[in-house]
Amino acid sequence: MLGRSRGTGYNPIMIVPLPTVAPTAPKLALFDQPTESLRQWLDEHGQPPLRARQIRRWVLECRAQAFADMSDLPKKLREELEQSFDLFSTQVDRHLVSRDGTNKLLLRTHDQHLIECVLIPEEGRFTACISTQVGCAMGCVFCASGLNGVARNLTAGEILEQLVRLRNLTPPDRRLTHIVVMGIGEPLANLDNLLQALAVAGDKHGLGIGARHITISTVGLPAKIRRLADLGKQYHLAVSLHAPNDLLRTEIVPTNAQTGIPEILAAADYFFQTTGRQVTFEYVVLGGRNDQPIHARQLVNLLRGRKAHVNLIPWNAVSDLSFRRPRDEDLNGFIEHLRRHGVSVTVRRRKGADIDAACGQLRRERSQE
Ligand code: SAH
Repeated sequence: MLGRSRGTGYNPIMIVPLPTVAPTAPKLALFDQPTESLRQWLDEHGQPPLRARQIRRWVLECRAQAFADMSDLPKKLREELEQSFDLFSTQVDRHLVSRDGTNKLLLRTHDQHLIECVLIPEEGRFTACISTQVGCAMGCVFCASGLNGVARNLTAGEILEQLVRLRNLTPPDRRLTHIVVMGIGEPLANLDNLLQALAVAGDKHGLGIGARHITISTVGLPAKIRRLADLGKQYHLAVSLHAPNDLLRTEIVPTNAQTGIPEILAAADYFFQTTGRQVTFEYVVLGGRNDQPIHARQLVNLLRGRKAHVNLIPWNAVSDLSFRRPRDEDLNGFIEHLRRHGVSVTVRRRKGADIDAACGQLRRERSQE
């Protein structure tokens, strides 16, 4: 047969050498495979469906870093899995550890985007802060994440993968206890994928993190807040209010022009009534802009009659943005006014300041390199 012309005009003048290694087909991302697809793949490879559960247990419960670690799977199957799937679809581009123990991972997606996630160890807790989008379309004027808009939503697998990677950084006998969806992106703009990832996070054969320990932070998309409420889950909702009147809020949070504070508060009230979970209002404190006595008074009026909690976040500096952190006396005055009028208030402590833990900062610096 060798050298025989195929009779269809095949008449080689020049033989182009073939690459010695055939180009590999892009692998499938394991975390994005529905169990059904994985079972089907296993079936096609002569394996029983229970293997899917074994693989899942290795990754979610036993911290396997590679298919080769899955010692109770046949060796041939491990090799085939390795050829077909990426166990992790992202690469760790940077791993920074802060003096206070905060870990930040800068992850590179298969299509070369950068996303961030953070592990925050605190007394008896391990909190994972995760991203939901590549960038953000909301355009809040003080925030690093949205400065270049949004490129795409993260897949459910990419969201879950952040949790698994962060969990793998905890000591072997410890697990993640809390999740805050406060990284890059607007979680409610990618709600379906987020919910899929959180379902695995919440499963007792997943990461075992109860809904009550999961906080979803939103710029305030009323229809999505209502949808979240209707799920009947006990997620904790945090709404980024940032200003006590529509004029100022629209300056700081441009999407407010389409929504307005009253509609957001109505949706937050609905969330509380439906789930019984008290809503937290986040308030980034921008020195001189939204931290004056008039703002404190307006905020008290706005929240009057609501069972709500306010979390003040002194602005974390973002290069090229000309806001400033609040003065101590302004911040203290603001807190005092709220407390005096019965509003429950906390100030977010700064974590990982030396590793740019504020969301979107590291990614931005790295992309500018
Ligand atoms: N898109 C979601 C999640 C954003 S990150 C939301 O808007 O809620 C979580 C919180 O950090 C939000 O309240 C956000 O406004 C705030 N934030 C973003 N950049 C910040 C910065 N540089 N300093 C302080 N808070 C910031």
